[in-house]
Amino acid sequence: MSGALVLLSGGQDSATCLAWALTRYSQVETIGFDYGQRHRSELEARSRLLGGLRAKFPAWAERLGADHVLDLRILGQISETALTRECDIASGPGGLPNTFVPGRNLIFLTFAAALAFRRNLKHIVSGVCETDYSGYPDCRDDTIKALQVTLNLGMEQRFVLDTPLMWIDKAQTWRLAEGLGGSALVELIRSETLSCYLGDTEHMHAWGHGCGTCPACDLRARGYAAFVTKTPQ
Ligand code: ZN
Repeated sequence: MSGALVLLSGGQDSATCLAWALTRYSQVETIGFDYGQRHRSELEARSRLLGGLRAKFPAWAERLGADHVLDLRILGQISETALTRECDIASGPGGLPNTFVPGRNLIFLTFAAALAFRRNLKHIVSGVCETDYSGYPDCRDDTIKALQVTLNLGMEQRFVLDTPLMWIDKAQTWRLAEGLGGSALVELIRSETLSCYLGDTEHMHAWGHGCGTCPACDLRARGYAAFVTKTPQ
């Protein structure tokens, strides 16, 4: 059991995590979730990214195995959030942004572990990050460590939940991608991944596609600017 399952959403962070896993593990599979995102462009971005990786990185293509997309649209039925409904992005009760789908990462990681069990994969890799913490409590390091213990107890396994981005910011995430796959990987992630909460693929900026105004675009734009100018974020 030395393979990895990477949670791939179609955004910058998970794309970088996939490249990270491909440099470390000989067998890498990917998992994505259809949870009733109000835009489909995120799921389309992950297919383009996988295609680009296979075409441009032959050594990684040999390690890259099956892609799994699970239907979790039931999440949209139990949560009213700006990611699954047409409404403005704002702060909700308790200061949490209304893009927060309660327990989403816990659910994703639990389903990922169930699949990893079936596929005999030890490492579960996700792009959760506490540094540019958007207020999502299920992205915190303590949450992930607690979940690793829970999953291992509950499934009688020795899964390792890898979080390579936990303590780095968005500019450092671009630098990590550059270190893993050079400018070709930076360009693939810039042009093919989508972080925008609105799923805007019409507007192209220096940092990639997006509406340019939502919090995710703002974070991505500032990170990319700090990366290209080599300044602290
Ligand atoms: Zn946006």
